[in-house]
Amino acid sequence: KSWTSAEVRQMFLDFFKEKNHSVEPSASLVPHEDPTLLWINSGVATLKKYFDGRVIPENPRIVNVQKSIRTNDIENVGFTARHHTFFEMLGNFSIGDYFKEEAMKWGWEFLTSKDWIGFDESRLSVTVHPEDDEAYTIWRDIVGIDEERIIRIEENFWDIGEGPSGPNTEIFYDRGEKYGNDPQDPELYPGGENERYLEIWNLVFSQFNHNPDDTYTPLPKKNIDTGMGLERIVCVIQDTPTNFETDLFKPLIEATESISGRKYGESEEEDSSFKVIADHMRTVSFAVSDGALPSNEGRGYVLRRLLRRAVRFAKQIGIDQPFMYKLVPEVAKIMVDFYPEVKEKQSFIQNVIKTEEERFHETLNDGLAILSTIMKQESEKGSNIFPGTEVFRLYDTYGFPKELTEEYVADAGFTIDEDGFMLEMEKQRERARNARQKAGSMQVQEGVLGDVHVASEFTGYDQLHTEAEIIE
Ligand code: ATP
Ligand code: MG
Ligand code: MG
Ligand code: MG
Repeated sequence: KSWTSAEVRQMFLDFFKEKNHSVEPSASLVPHEDPTLLWINSGVATLKKYFDGRVIPENPRIVNVQKSIRTNDIENVGFTARHHTFFEMLGNFSIGDYFKEEAMKWGWEFLTSKDWIGFDESRLSVTVHPEDDEAYTIWRDIVGIDEERIIRIEENFWDIGEGPSGPNTEIFYDRGEKYGNDPQDPELYPGGENERYLEIWNLVFSQFNHNPDDTYTPLPKKNIDTGMGLERIVCVIQDTPTNFETDLFKPLIEATESISGRKYGESEEEDSSFKVIADHMRTVSFAVSDGALPSNEGRGYVLRRLLRRAVRFAKQIGIDQPFMYKLVPEVAKIMVDFYPEVKEKQSFIQNVIKTEEERFHETLNDGLAILSTIMKQESEKGSNIFPGTEVFRLYDTYGFPKELTEEYVADAGFTIDEDGFMLEMEKQRERARNARQKAGSMQVQEGVLGDVHVASEFTGYDQLHTEAEIIE
């Protein structure tokens, strides 16, 4: 049986409501109480207050569907079947209430029971941490999974440094031989880098405290934190080759077809463009509806980078005009029943995106011309390194985020001189500092302008870095 994405979302909530969970609404993508995080990147990220004991929930059993943004997967987006920068995470949580056995039994029941999703059990396999005999035994003896489909994997340990940590178990769906059948492929196993065994659900057992001296002690109250990607389970249910042909993305792909005049599904390369555009549009639309705006730092830098990256991919399917703002109503329409916010702010979001597109288009062709001139010069010198000073010039004058230049030149086999770029950024910072000092008594009035300059000091990069580290 096939379900719509809206039905799957609701089924998940209903299932855990039946198991006495309370529904926690999807929170803003912009973290309100967590300075270590650039974006809400998982269901648990908004529930930290319960996990660290600051707030005691009325009901220790919680279920949610949480909007999430991850930038650490960006290189995969458009190229794997399963990665997005914006996705929805379905999660059930226990704050010191139930533990492994219930979490695993219920996860399995939701996926395999004919009353719920009803997956064929023989398609599913699970991974556990090598030392987590408890989880192994529950899967084998209580849930009843064959031993050959329980795989012990070292990576199955969830740890972010100090704080709660513990082993996890992941559930994979075998999409069949057409997504990989090479017996020599060392990556072809659940947990490997492949498109056949799709990771759908991660169940984290937070049972230890990671102490400052790097020892681990058992937590007095053990928690459960799970996350399942809606787009992935819907892909399996709707039996589509990638997440992008599901009802969550299809209208966006079709709208891009009519704007570009190209057809999706004719070349792998062009399909990547369709996918990147659809993905990035969802991310930017939701982020702006939650109050973020394109800029040169932090969150805003991510949005700027996503929009400009989408422009790069749009060029490859012949789109040379601002167009992304036209896709916002499609995002709004697909999501309106569960997330009315995009529809409510539709025209504002469109204006933000259109302005950003227009700004970039004004300088895009000049920037691209410089890019190819420099690459030609360097090639003649026998180099395939793109100078840092030029990366900086493209950033500062033509609005090319560093990562974008990096991607453009990578197409021609170039890498960028990262250190040289950082040096230029440092020099600019120095200039800004001096300018502020010169302003002297004018400093207070100049404060506003000064801040604008500080903002372009590229703090975004550091923050992105931190975020990637937190996720990994
Ligand atoms: P992967 O190994 O496929 O990158 P992950 O192990 O990094 O996924 P988790 O941190 O375990 O992902 O997140 C829980 C679930 O959220 C995953 O099992 C998956 O279903 C979904 N998910 C994670 N990252 C993404 C993403 N970038 N796009 C779409 N879904 C995702
Ligand atoms: Mg990942
Ligand atoms: Mg994984
Ligand atoms: Mg995982």
